[in-house]
Amino acid sequence: MNLSTPISQISRIGPIYAKRLNKFGIKEVKDLLFHFPSRYQDFSKITPIGKVGIGETVTVMGKILDIANTRTPRKRMNLTEAIIEDASGAIVAIWFNQPFLVQNLRKGLNVVLSGKTTFSNDSLSLSSPSYEIATQIQNLSHTGRIVPIYPETAGITSRWFRYIIKPLLPLADKIPEYLPAEILERNDIPPLSRALADIHFPQTLADSEGAKKRIAFGELFLIQTVALKEKLNIQKQKAPKIKLDVALAKEFVSSLPFKLTDSQRNAAWEILQDLEKPHPMNRLLEGDVGSGKTIVATLAALEAVKSGYQVAILAPTEILAEQHFNGLSKFLEPYRITIAILTRSAHKRTSQKIKYAPFKISKTRVAKETGEGKIDIIIGTHAIIQETVRFKNLGLIVIDEQHRFGVEQRARLLRGKSAIPHLLSMTATPIPRTLSLAIFGDLDLSLITQMPRGRKKIITKIVAPAGRTQAYEFIRNQINEGRQAFVICPLVEESEKIEGKAAKKEQEKLQKEIFPDLKISLLHGKMKGKEKEKVMQTFKDREADILVSTSVVEVGIDIPNATVMLIEGADRFGLAQLYQFRGRVGRGEHQSYCFLFTDSTAKTTRQRLKALITAKNSFELAEEDLKIRGPGDFIGSRQSGMPSFAMASLSDLEFVKSVRKEVESVLLKDPDLTSNSLLREKYENFRKEIHFE
Ligand code: ADP
Ligand code: MG
Repeated sequence: MNLSTPISQISRIGPIYAKRLNKFGIKEVKDLLFHFPSRYQDFSKITPIGKVGIGETVTVMGKILDIANTRTPRKRMNLTEAIIEDASGAIVAIWFNQPFLVQNLRKGLNVVLSGKTTFSNDSLSLSSPSYEIATQIQNLSHTGRIVPIYPETAGITSRWFRYIIKPLLPLADKIPEYLPAEILERNDIPPLSRALADIHFPQTLADSEGAKKRIAFGELFLIQTVALKEKLNIQKQKAPKIKLDVALAKEFVSSLPFKLTDSQRNAAWEILQDLEKPHPMNRLLEGDVGSGKTIVATLAALEAVKSGYQVAILAPTEILAEQHFNGLSKFLEPYRITIAILTRSAHKRTSQKIKYAPFKISKTRVAKETGEGKIDIIIGTHAIIQETVRFKNLGLIVIDEQHRFGVEQRARLLRGKSAIPHLLSMTATPIPRTLSLAIFGDLDLSLITQMPRGRKKIITKIVAPAGRTQAYEFIRNQINEGRQAFVICPLVEESEKIEGKAAKKEQEKLQKEIFPDLKISLLHGKMKGKEKEKVMQTFKDREADILVSTSVVEVGIDIPNATVMLIEGADRFGLAQLYQFRGRVGRGEHQSYCFLFTDSTAKTTRQRLKALITAKNSFELAEEDLKIRGPGDFIGSRQSGMPSFAMASLSDLEFVKSVRKEVESVLLKDPDLTSNSLLREKYENFRKEIHFE
């Protein structure tokens, strides 16, 4: 047997289990070694039975004096009862619905039991303890040691994983080490083979910590290698030189109906300077919803066009594309720039002759004119532009709400041109520092931390169940005044389908019981993209009074007439996410409100929610979230392919920094990783795995 032996060839794994394991993505022996426990139970200390107290989690060792199956009188459950004795005393052990145990645990055998004690019927007993026959006391798997607990799903128990994985551990020695020895030494981490053995069956909890650190280090090392190599790669490429026209920038800024915030100015300055450089910009512009990112991007686009280049602006949805088209056409009107939009349903461009009013042209004509260089700025959805448009001389790509767009993707838009366009991506998702270092290490960051002046503060209230009626009355008053409201349904972890059902129920309830005379529409993640867009559009057009939605409600959508954001089960969401929901309102001239509904009476919950009332910006909340909830809110681990231990380590800034330092030193000496072919291979596989391109 070796590391790549298919699990179906392991005699203890039958075809049924092999199939279940496939669901975890476990196909070979190696995959089993990389199926890590999620936690441990410390059963390492054996307590004399006479010293065992009530309500303790203990491990005892003794002889089975008696064992038998009975039935509980009322519930008619099968009970297995055993009496275990050592030199200091005796204890009863009870298992439920496992009658087969009596075939294994025979009278007279020595056993080790680990579990929690209770006191019932005048005797001390262990309830459903983990058990093991003590033939070889040094070689226990389930008791008498630190026991690994595996994620138990798809009908596979932890006990079974232990039974299968333990005999395979000697093979861990065959796993080659891809990190240089001096890095292991400098960072005081064990080699991978040792870490794999320790992660499954550690001698001490400290060993398991060391193992986790090693695995996390390796994963983060690869993640950062991918990011930093991307950065090096980009710096090697040529980019169109967009000369900064300071007078033009000043003129544009002074033409605006408002004054830019200092944050906006700084960000714009960083971007314009990047555009002058001979290699492509790769910058992420981060700022809360409503902080005014679009205007910053518009200035960059103006400079690019006036330098003779085309600009593509990619939005995640049609509505946002339309919003950008309207905004840019308005702000750039004095500059006689031709701006087009191309989405599934919209295809038009501004006219030079007729006083700048947009007029409809066919999709193919939008694409054709873009190819001929007649259109200066094209705005559309990601997919449409990437699939259908070729450019004459694309100089800048602006992407809304998609963090990454690799060099190869950019090159594809160009088809054989030698320079790679500059990239500005924009996001309203606040990304904590560790995450931007680790995962977005290839991107330069510009932050907008201030909101434009004069925005009304959104009045935010935490609402207990008793306040529900009053809140509904409040909503009714707002709607009577012509406003609209959002209702966000609680987060359901299991599936979008269940979440969608819950949202539908909520919508029906509101429609039937609370607001029978109002129009209430529904939005959830199971709907098709087109359907979702339609719902949002009709809400925007005021054809509905209330929009009930799951957490999918579009980031960045501008509905100035909506003034109430009601969030059900607010305690289930991350703070940064709540902050984003709240950002859907308060976009117009009217005072807006946010109601955080919660059933929780826990003080900690209220405190956490209160942070939403006091925090200055979403970055603060994001850091807080990362501490409390881990990084899952920021990067769906599934989409990003982010390994779990790396995830867990992301709240530790020092750790992330130390990994980054090592990656930098390796790449500085050997940018193509030619001297370490194993690391190179790992890097290449990992790059594919996380779909970097
Ligand atoms: P986001 O950062 O969420 O994309 P937008 O760019 O859509 O925000 O800006 C939101 C609104 O604020 C727009 O109507 C925009 O014109 C306006 N705006 C942008 N900057 C300022 C500013 N400095 N002062 C006042 N209003 C501004
Ligand atoms: Mg925006």
